[in-house]
Amino acid sequence: MAQEDVFKKIVSHCKEYGFVFQSSEIYDGLSAVYDYGQMGVELKNNIKKYWWDSMVLLNDNVVGIDSAIFMHPTIWKASGHVDAFNDPLIDNKDSKKRYRADVLIEDYLAKIDEKIDKEVEKAAKRFGDSFDEAMFRETNPRVLENKAKRDEVHTRFAKALNDSNLEELRNIIVDCEIVDPISGTRNWTEVRQFNLMFATEMGSTADGAMKVYLRPETAQGIFVNFLNVQKTGRMKIPFGIAQIGKAFRNEIVARQFIFRMREFEQMEMQFFVRPGEELEWFAKWKDVRMKWHKALGFGDKKYRFHDHDKLAHYANAATDIEFEMPFGFKEVEGIHSRTDFDLGSHEQYSGKKLQYFDPELNKSYTPYVIETSIGVDRMFLSTVSAAYTEETLENGETRVVLKLPAPLAPIKLGVFPLVKKDGLPEKAREVIDSLKFDFKCQYDEKDSIGKRYRRSDAIGTPYCVTVDHQTLEDNTVTIRYRDTMEQERVAIDKLAEIIGDKVSMKGLLKSL
Ligand code: ATP
Repeated sequence: MAQEDVFKKIVSHCKEYGFVFQSSEIYDGLSAVYDYGQMGVELKNNIKKYWWDSMVLLNDNVVGIDSAIFMHPTIWKASGHVDAFNDPLIDNKDSKKRYRADVLIEDYLAKIDEKIDKEVEKAAKRFGDSFDEAMFRETNPRVLENKAKRDEVHTRFAKALNDSNLEELRNIIVDCEIVDPISGTRNWTEVRQFNLMFATEMGSTADGAMKVYLRPETAQGIFVNFLNVQKTGRMKIPFGIAQIGKAFRNEIVARQFIFRMREFEQMEMQFFVRPGEELEWFAKWKDVRMKWHKALGFGDKKYRFHDHDKLAHYANAATDIEFEMPFGFKEVEGIHSRTDFDLGSHEQYSGKKLQYFDPELNKSYTPYVIETSIGVDRMFLSTVSAAYTEETLENGETRVVLKLPAPLAPIKLGVFPLVKKDGLPEKAREVIDSLKFDFKCQYDEKDSIGKRYRRSDAIGTPYCVTVDHQTLEDNTVTIRYRDTMEQERVAIDKLAEIIGDKVSMKGLLKSL
């Protein structure tokens, strides 16, 4: 199946089973804004818990905060967002669609990479065991030609970004003959800068209202509270502050479901270190964060690092963790070495000292910062995409199953009475009542057992039990496992033990 079709299926699956709805749907929707439904919110909460616990529970030198969305407007001046939080936009005059100029070029580069990989794959098949990939990449004329083209465009692109040279970005688009995917034409406008922050007013106009911004990232709430937390928590460097919260960006192009939203959620952690030690910590956090992703068991090949071509104004090292979405490898998390830019800048704009006295060095300094920043919604999309599976069964039927890691699954256990009479519903409720304090259970008595299994598979429930007449006699149920579809008879009082560890966050956290 084409990857585009897989993506469409995932989007409609998310709607059909109560994971994600278009915002304001009955009013024809609001572009790039989404609501999470009854299943989505559970999965989202589990993702957040996995992140939060991995930061705050597992590291005694990382603490959390929850800062307000509104902040003093000068914060955004100090952070550089008022002047520099821009994307380069370009319009196609025929389709009237707007694009990010940098993304058009990145997609073009990714296509060349794909071509090279296909060439390598073809050769690997042809030559079998004797294939020497490194040698092939170094000598095959078609690979070399594509690589040279890629490197040339890449060098121009990186320079244009670093110089904020909008004209050159347009020249690259023209020279590479990049066409609008909708109109198929090359009728492009100039490239312009567009600020992504939403602004609103605080206070009544009579008082002289103040222009405030909806925060475009949660990080600044951490920086401006750095000393509050350090002092009241008696924190010693190195230490981190974690936060989960909403962020808002007026994205130019927002066509990929919850991948790029105008209102989204971030999980950010700023780790404060001694100046000069930041690159060591950068390497450490890169490692820790990649392990966190891979521990979910979707396969290591789905992840890769992508180092930035253009370092943001505040960074001296930066990388993205990319995940293989149905529409290609895309950024899910950014890891940045932010130097002392933010704290230094807030010192300057606020006139307040934001320094740390290091008792071991017996001196004060402005700490350096390593940031790990991940979007909850992108993590959600990557999880659902990796988990979404269509299987053909022995009887020829197909089943759609979300193979979610059990600790992330919205519902851990489905409980089904075989029939709606003879005391079986009551017995099923009893089972739920005995387990509901440990994990989320769902009662379902509608349709055949087979259909109930299908519905549970579709929302990723790892375990289901059926209560039948034998249950009333010997207190046993049939447990059915989502991935293998195997069934076995077990005692009700063994259920907590069989399921408990597997669905708890503890197991996942211990594997880190
Ligand atoms: P992109 O290049 O895709 O616009 P970014 O580099 O601007 O992303 P960061 O500023 O590093 O993103 O934000 C950190 C994380 O927040 C990203 O890795 C992503 O997971 C998430 N994120 C950023 N923008 C959005 C958005 N519009 N919708 C959903 N998640 C987002």
